[in-house]
Amino acid sequence: MSSNPNAEKRYTDPGCAYCPPSVRACRQGESQARGPGYCPSKVDQSGINDAYENYADPFTREVARASALVEAEGYCQWTRVEEICEFAKKLGFKKIGIATCISFVDLANTLSGILESHGFTVASVACKHGGVAKERIGLADVEKIRPGGHESMCNPVSQAELLNRAGCELNVVLGLCVGHDSLFFKHSDGLATTLVAKDRVLAHNPVGALQLADSYYSRVWGPEKPDKAPKLPAEGRSKPS
Ligand code: SF4
Ligand code: SF4
Repeated sequence: MSSNPNAEKRYTDPGCAYCPPSVRACRQGESQARGPGYCPSKVDQSGINDAYENYADPFTREVARASALVEAEGYCQWTRVEEICEFAKKLGFKKIGIATCISFVDLANTLSGILESHGFTVASVACKHGGVAKERIGLADVEKIRPGGHESMCNPVSQAELLNRAGCELNVVLGLCVGHDSLFFKHSDGLATTLVAKDRVLAHNPVGALQLADSYYSRVWGPEKPDKAPKLPAEGRSKPS
């Protein structure tokens, strides 16, 4: 942390991504005392306070409790599939939706069977359902993956609508692309969680690009990559005037 006593005033945005491993004081509840100037507790404590009021809502509180219990009970033992099952059971959910990529339908079949084996009723919708041509959302033929033929748009808004109508209390995203998943989350009435995040290059293990960003996947960096990794968030790099 800077020795400048006004250092924290340089920050208007939280910058946890730059918190050194030796600090990370929020784990111990000591952010106010030990957090850096860009710590959320220093930058926007009133935002934290306002957000906390949402936990007065009984459903929000129950979801938060169930999440914490699943994390603790299955810590390093349960796969994410098992965590989803246990999470849904703790909340008393009966009906689960699967929003799947068309390329994941076989895996959706396995997931549906697993969920049914735990007593849940399951509805599932593939992204290409409805077969709506990509031209309907303004794509030109040359902008399709294979121009010249019919290509159905990925239809996450409709996936959400159908799972909403089916009364799904929890929806599981299986391999939806970036942006399509965003639309699904935006339109899903039920809680939604990701089981598989699509990454065609990394066998759906997108964290690999971060773990190998300085070696095999160095191409992920943009043209403004600095020679030396900055120690502070952007707001803290220039000297205050
Ligand atoms: S909340 Fe504060 S202490 Fe925790 S990681 Fe972010 S900056 Fe560090
Ligand atoms: S657009 Fe994405 S989610 Fe839809 S079929 Fe293609 S890969 Fe699957």
